[in-house]
Amino acid sequence: MTDSGPIANALRALPRTRLATLPTPLERGPELPGPDGRGTARLWVKRDDLTGLGGGGNKARKLEFLVGDARAAGCDALVTVGAGQSNHCRITAAAGAVVGLDVHLVLSGDRPAELTGNQLFSALFGAQMHFTGIDGTEWGALEIAREELVETLRSDGATPASIGIGGSSAVGAAGYALAYAEIVDDCRAAGITPAAIIHTSSSGGTHAGLLAGRAIHRHHGLLAPPVIAIGVAKGVIAHAPDPAALAGELLDLIGLGAVEVSADDVVVDPDWMGPDYAIPTAAGDAAILWAAHRGGWLMDRTYSGKGLSGVLGRSFEPGSDVVFIHTGGVPALFAPGGAPLP
Ligand SMILES: *Cc1c(COP(=O)(O)O)cnc(C)c1O
Repeated sequence: MTDSGPIANALRALPRTRLATLPTPLERGPELPGPDGRGTARLWVKRDDLTGLGGGGNKARKLEFLVGDARAAGCDALVTVGAGQSNHCRITAAAGAVVGLDVHLVLSGDRPAELTGNQLFSALFGAQMHFTGIDGTEWGALEIAREELVETLRSDGATPASIGIGGSSAVGAAGYALAYAEIVDDCRAAGITPAAIIHTSSSGGTHAGLLAGRAIHRHHGLLAPPVIAIGVAKGVIAHAPDPAALAGELLDLIGLGAVEVSADDVVVDPDWMGPDYAIPTAAGDAAILWAAHRGGWLMDRTYSGKGLSGVLGRSFEPGSDVVFIHTGGVPALFAPGGAPLP
């Protein structure tokens, strides 16, 4: 783990529960073909699908701080929310199992006849699953259902920690500020200076954490590669929640309010979501097959596949290096229609 440096030092102010297997590997991948097939940058993949906890994925890093916060506050349960095949819910279920807290998941849709993918894992980890019948893209309605459940649990005498969609609070984002330092360390060890660090974005917390991390590095004159988010949900594409504002909130929280994140730092590429969140795209499916064939990587149709399609669709300086953070999502491949094969 990146235990020294200005980001780690600043984050020592926050309670943390070690849950993830860190650092994750940075793998050297093939040369990217570029949109015209004439080649561009070398791809490097940061394997945050291998964070361990509950099958892995980016939420494990956020949950180290979210669970640390919940335990410091004396909470006896974790309540969170997500789409039916939420990776965040699955990993929260595992975190609760590890630390011995009850977990309640507020999920979109109705209970299916058979649990598959992330839902199967959440059930195995012992979480209580509350199916709301709400559509998976109606995040506002899902958040209200979460608040209602929290109120019910409180009136029954419990002290639940209420974790918003994707764990994308300032506290959750701390996990990705630390990840930024880890990636820069990896790049130094690999002898590269990446042109960009690219990742898939839906609730914005990963992006916010990376932006905060970059701002701290820049403030200290350290290597600070730019961050590019590939938006896969309408909210982040419409700039709500604003990742720069969330990054600022995190910096305030750790006493670094003087470190600036500017609007120019925020790059969200809106061109790879397709019609909506979790609706597969042809480019995303092609990226899934490219990743599987070229690197043995498993990417999913809601997140990583669309994110990688944004990397494959961009031009970079020939001879440069780009880092794609594989944020996970592998269990969703085992849900019905989860993989781009007949
Ligand atoms: C949640 C998630 C993301 C997006 O992260 P946010 O912090 O919500 O923007 C990307 N990939 C996978 C697999 C995820 O589960």
